[in-house]
Amino acid sequence: MSVPPGETSASGPLAHPPAPGVAGALERHSGLERWPELHPTTQAAFNQVLWRGGLPRIEIARKLGVTRARLTAVTRSLEEAGLIVEGQREQRSTTGRPAEMLYAATTAYQFLGLHLHGNEVIAALINLDGSVAWKSNASLTTECPEELLECAGGMLREASIGFRVAAVAICGPLARVGLDPGSARIRAIDDALRERFESQWSIPLWVDDDVVALTAFEQWPRLAEGQDSMVLISVGEEIGFGIVTDRRIMRGARRAAGRFDHIPVIADGPECPLGHRGCLWSVSSTIALTRAVPGGGSTAEIADRADAGDELCAFILERAAAGLGTAAGHLVNLLDPDKLVLTGESHTVLRGRMDTFRAALRATHLGADDIEVDMPDFDFVEWASAAAALALYRCLSPIPF
Ligand SMILES: [Zn+2]
Repeated sequence: MSVPPGETSASGPLAHPPAPGVAGALERHSGLERWPELHPTTQAAFNQVLWRGGLPRIEIARKLGVTRARLTAVTRSLEEAGLIVEGQREQRSTTGRPAEMLYAATTAYQFLGLHLHGNEVIAALINLDGSVAWKSNASLTTECPEELLECAGGMLREASIGFRVAAVAICGPLARVGLDPGSARIRAIDDALRERFESQWSIPLWVDDDVVALTAFEQWPRLAEGQDSMVLISVGEEIGFGIVTDRRIMRGARRAAGRFDHIPVIADGPECPLGHRGCLWSVSSTIALTRAVPGGGSTAEIADRADAGDELCAFILERAAAGLGTAAGHLVNLLDPDKLVLTGESHTVLRGRMDTFRAALRATHLGADDIEVDMPDFDFVEWASAAAALALYRCLSPIPF
């Protein structure tokens, strides 16, 4: 499954078109190497160049509010670290003069993400722009957390042959102690195991909830636009919520914020395993959907049957869309986010039913303004890319979480 070194495949929301003359401009280092400790202004300058896919020097100075002299020192240290390269002068319509462009060396470092679902591990190695450089997968045979860490080490060894890996993150259903057997396994990675891994490999390892990783994946590039807040809803066997307020990913005192999947949404709905009637899980989770249709098959099959005119399938999906809209409306009332991001299997559940979702959202939302709703494309590698993006965010972000 791996992509040869130097090539990239799918790109995430972080990706920009390749900058002219940057690919291969620097000698590739490979192995394992921590992200360099940069002065906060230097890191901020790099992030601006990275987010924008290249910037003229003058605009970097303006964005950071620093003098030209200070900027020269900042860009020199970034150039010495191999993190930026000068491009050709570009005519920028705003200034009327050719501008000296700086580009991020997006392949200078990579970040490895592993996503755990049941016994399956999917791994993705991403470049600084979020493009996938390498991917792999494995099946675990025991419940031991040590096996998962050994698997991570093996993938790290393999990935580090062609790349310079700066950090690793393992993500899965950490905060949700429900249905996924991966939950217990990932929760069993304690600080002692994590520290042992870090001292063996000399780069940081983070273990976190996969919805938090997905939130980091969506929020990181949006920091460029000054996005302060967001609510992410991930539809699957469980329904996860990622919350960003004041530019921080909200974790909660016990790292369990965002458990919103059992809020009542339908007055006379079915019963969930926790005994609620008409909670969001009971009408909109993929398990609830497949249970509601005898011989229904997967969510995708139920959606296909609804499209082909099956009335029960259509009713079940309409109810799921309305449930998601109601829950989203409550969250908008509570948090007033810049936008909502619908992900996981939202695509399948809401295909052709966005009007139902929006009507339920409007009926619950107590404000008059329409709220922006994003529904990015999503597949299973994306969970692993999100884990890798969490590692990147942890290394590069000025705002810890
Ligand atoms: Zn419930």
